[in-house]
Amino acid sequence: MRIIRSTRILESILRQEERERGRYSLGFVPTMGALHEGHISLIRRARRENNRVLVSIFVNPLQFGPHEDFHRYPRPLAKDTGICRREGVDIVFLPAVREVLRSKYLRKERPPKSLSAALCGPFRPGHFEGVAAIVLFFFRIIRPDKAYFGEKDYQQLRIIEEVTLRHFKRKIEIVRCPTVREEGGLAKSSRNAYLSGEKRRAAMKIYKALREGRRMILNSSPKAESVFRTMKCILEASPAIQLDYLSIVDSKTLKKVVKLKARRRHPLLIATAVRIGKTRLIDNILV
Ligand code: AMP
Repeated sequence: MRIIRSTRILESILRQEERERGRYSLGFVPTMGALHEGHISLIRRARRENNRVLVSIFVNPLQFGPHEDFHRYPRPLAKDTGICRREGVDIVFLPAVREVLRSKYLRKERPPKSLSAALCGPFRPGHFEGVAAIVLFFFRIIRPDKAYFGEKDYQQLRIIEEVTLRHFKRKIEIVRCPTVREEGGLAKSSRNAYLSGEKRRAAMKIYKALREGRRMILNSSPKAESVFRTMKCILEASPAIQLDYLSIVDSKTLKKVVKLKARRRHPLLIATAVRIGKTRLIDNILV
């Protein structure tokens, strides 16, 4: 496994490999590190589907707001590279913030407004622009055949699908990977490291509420109102939880759905973001 920090060196290695190996398939897993089973499931899938696997670890300053946790975001680098080695990753790319921000490959990107203004959009101004810019930066250098993203960050995934299509047509396949959860249902997240005791117990209510919402919709096609009421009751039973939003949307357009009974072309998505103390958690479920 090679650990590479320089964009220029990575480019020259990848272009050389392209020439030498002719057709080979390169799978790319972008991460911000503090790797857990969620990330590992993406890496394993990439390993199964490609003969080369590249993982990037980069805490992207462009996707954090001024009062968010950029500086305290966990960075257990030695542990992360150990996991990558164990999982048979070929290249770990660890670019320095300064080099990325100066790179000619980094360009401003405006994701479709209808997607970036939904769900987390109003709570994290500029976040998805920052995510899209950095993912496209990686794509321009790495030119992967397939790139792996978790459904846990569903809005991010939809935005990346769209901006990838915009710039690369079908040259890069975006592979959706299901959310990996802890035993109690809490979605694995690097930010779970901030939770202990009471807060962790509160966080377990999130998936409980989402599952109950899905159960209601599948069993009885009720009014959206009563689904929201039930889910909110479950969440708000925990005084530690502050709700940013709880929405039922079309999983392709992310537009709000009011008539749950109507026939539809795409599954529904129930999505939520909550704050527990200073920690913001998101989760979703497809129906
Ligand atoms: P992050 O390091 O949080 O930027 O996440 C890197 C990638 O891992 C993103 O595509 C995430 O959606 C994905 N990911 C994070 N947590 C999970 C999870 N619990 N299950 C599946 N994928 C995940």
